[in-house]
Amino acid sequence: ITVLGLESSCDDTAAAVLRGRTILSSVVADQTALHAAFGGVVPEIAARAHAEKLDICIETALNKAGTPLSEIDAIAVTAGPGLIGGVLSGVMMAKGLSAATGKPLIGVNHLAGHALTPRLTDGLEYPYLILLVSGGHCQFLRVDGPNRFSRLGSTIDDAPGEAFDKTARLLGLPQPGGPSVEQHAKDGDETRFKFPRPLLDRAGCDLSFSGLKTALLRQRDQLVSDQGGLHPKDVNDLCAGFQAAIRDVLVEKSRRALEVSNDITGFAVAGGVAANKSLRASLETLSDARDIPFVAPPLALCTDNAAMIAFAGAEKFASEGADDLSLSARPRWPLDKQAPAALGSGK
Ligand code: ATP
Ligand code: FE
Repeated sequence: ITVLGLESSCDDTAAAVLRGRTILSSVVADQTALHAAFGGVVPEIAARAHAEKLDICIETALNKAGTPLSEIDAIAVTAGPGLIGGVLSGVMMAKGLSAATGKPLIGVNHLAGHALTPRLTDGLEYPYLILLVSGGHCQFLRVDGPNRFSRLGSTIDDAPGEAFDKTARLLGLPQPGGPSVEQHAKDGDETRFKFPRPLLDRAGCDLSFSGLKTALLRQRDQLVSDQGGLHPKDVNDLCAGFQAAIRDVLVEKSRRALEVSNDITGFAVAGGVAANKSLRASLETLSDARDIPFVAPPLALCTDNAAMIAFAGAEKFASEGADDLSLSARPRWPLDKQAPAALGSGK
């Protein structure tokens, strides 16, 4: 089927047209410039920009795909989790389109979009293990079906993407922080500064990242007081040390998650931080050593996009049908609460 997908849960406004597993078009209008002066995403500004840009994104996506609205079979939209204003803009737009055309409406969990991406890109079969690592989330999920997720562990404080962004801010590097820090880390010495490896002493797959930011701040302030400022080499070495700590924690916890995952067809990584090359390479090595196929989607499908929403919508539509116009926006919507029957006690 041909699905129009809409995404507006954070700071990207996106629309895409998907036919089967073929992405006919995927348009992303990011708001980085709008929020730059504020050092972070401002919910009010984001909501207004989504409302303004959704129209043109949809039009562009349909045009690029060469598919008029009449040829679309269903409309999928992110219904949460995320910033309420943005999610509402998308849901209202999708409801309007659905009401006007009579096409089925499908409310999609944004995290399900990320978590199902390895099926879209590589046709990975259920069940598989995925590390979802983004600006707002960090969790290990076992995926048994389009609506069957079980969480093996998650961060108890910051998400790695958030930590990358804060680190960049503390070092005066541009946002989004992940790509800036990765760029500087390439020329840095990861052993020069000491960073902790939080929670590795604790059993299980939960993670923690807030201590890394504190370690960074302390070492930055020490350098500033010793030498009056930061040299370019200091920035590179701090970035390298910080990135190595995040990588090591994610790799070790991935090793444990793989250990307790039976019968999986593969190990995948998704979310914006999955764009990090050093992390991807280390996770691939880990997976290879255990003879488990490793899937890392192309960068453009790791960060927020609407193709993943269209795909997750198609999978949900096939397994449980459409939503109706009472679909509501859910700012909080934990993925593993979607399938109580699959996870709950006694079943
Ligand atoms: P969520 O999906 O949890 O709601 P989000 O939509 O903000 O959060 P994504 O768009 O999936 O997150 O990812 C954005 C995050 O990924 C940012 O924090 C950014 O710094 C980080 N990121 C992007 N590229 C890289 C990279 N190369 N290395 C590390 N982090 C990166
Ligand atoms: Fe996201």
